Parts: sequence; C-alpha cells; structure tokens
Amino acid sequence: MKRTADEIAKMRRAGRVVAEMHAETRAAANPGVTTLDLDTVARAVLDRRGARSNFLHYRGFPAVICTSPNDMIVHGIPGDYVLQEGDILSIDCGAIVEGYHGDAAFTMAIGEVSASAQRLIEVTERSLWAGIEQLRSGTRLHEVGRAVQDVAEKAGFTVVREYVGHAIGTAMHEEPQVPNYWPGTGGPMLKAGMVFAVEPMVNAGGPETRVLDDGWSVVTADGRLSAHFEHSIAVTEDGPEVLTLP
Ligand code: MG
Ligand code: MG
Repeated sequence: MKRTADEIAKMRRAGRVVAEMHAETRAAANPGVTTLDLDTVARAVLDRRGARSNFLHYRGFPAVICTSPNDMIVHGIPGDYVLQEGDILSIDCGAIVEGYHGDAAFTMAIGEVSASAQRLIEVTERSLWAGIEQLRSGTRLHEVGRAVQDVAEKAGFTVVREYVGHAIGTAMHEEPQVPNYWPGTGGPMLKAGMVFAVEPMVNAGGPETRVLDDGWSVVTADGRLSAHFEHSIAVTEDGPEVLTLP
C-alpha cells in the first residue's frame, strides 16, 4: 500500500520515538539489570512522548518491548532474567503516533562478549543494511531477502525462515511479508510511498527454531546464538528513507 507524505511524516515521528526507546534501553542494558527493568525504561519514553505501544496487549503480549538474550531469536518476554557480562541481547519495540506505527530492533553486547558473538551482531546489522539498499522504486520486494541472505550466508551464518519482515502503516503487521531469504520469486514491484519493516534474524548455527512453553519466546533449535536487527523504511523517489533512526 502506498502512503501519502503526511502519513509518512507521522510514521517518521513514531520512528523517532522507537529510536529513543532503543537509545535508552541500550544505555540501561548493563550486567545486573533485569529485562523487566528495560521494559520500564521503554515505557517511560512512550509516556514522555505521548505515544502508544503496539507491542503491549498484541495477542496478549504483556510488555512494550521484546527482550531476547543469547539463543533466543525473538519475542522474549521481559522478566526477572538478570543480564550477565558476555550475553548478547536483542531488543525489539515499537510505537504508535497518531495511529501510525514504527517498529525496530537491535542486538547488543552486554559488557565484553566473545569475538564470534560480536561478529554475529555485526554481520546481522550489515545484512539489514544490504536489505534496506534494495528498497527502491522499480525493484522487486524479494530482492531484500536475497541481499540479506547473501550477507549472512557468506559469513557462514543462516537466516531464520519462520519469522519475516512486513509492510507497516496503520497496523504494525501489514501485507505483504518481507522474507529474509530468496523465496523463489521476485515478489511485488516496489513503488514510492510503500513502507516496510525489514528484520533479519541471523543464527550462528542452523536456521531451525523452537517456541518455548511460554508460547512466545522463539529460540534456536540447536541452542546457538541468534541476532536480530530491524528498521522501518519508506521507499521514496530518492531511495530508501529509514524512519526509525534518531
Ligand atoms: Mg520489531
Ligand atoms: Mg517487525
């Protein structure tokens, strides 16, 4: 769906709130802090900016951020987990401003992490930017996944198949989906005004996933690390505009 300049302006404002939630949770995510503490930090940003959460109550989700440490890929529920030196942590969150949504995620190191963990984080972020580069009028949507997969697999990692990116606008998850791999067809032709959340989930080991008994937390089937980066991006006449940057 194509959005007007006015709609994209609202999504840019929502995106700025998400970027602020990222900055403040990142600063607070130190050894000894619980993931629930980080949810409190993010809620304060939403309150201060007069924005609403698109995560809270989504299919019953109890928090405004997802916190997914180590082998957890996505959808972790903030709770009493205490961050430890050497962990990696993925934080995913969103905001609604005047009915328009932003959605973005990042993975960070808690203190000093292994070189291999650091490399996974860097490659996953690089795969996101390779995908974003494809969001140009006249390109087909599935080139995003091809670019993401190429970066991740050349580094010796794998991309998750079961969870994907999405269009975003007046709902967080709109059609079409944005796979992080080449699905075999080019997909829809991109046009200025379309807005997508691109969100590669990259695993150090195999791509297989498993959902924990809480019904939310998605972990790697082999127990190895996973990283997740996401931005919301508008296709413009001048190329991709990332809406969830500060
Ligand atoms: Mg997200
Ligand atoms: Mg998303």
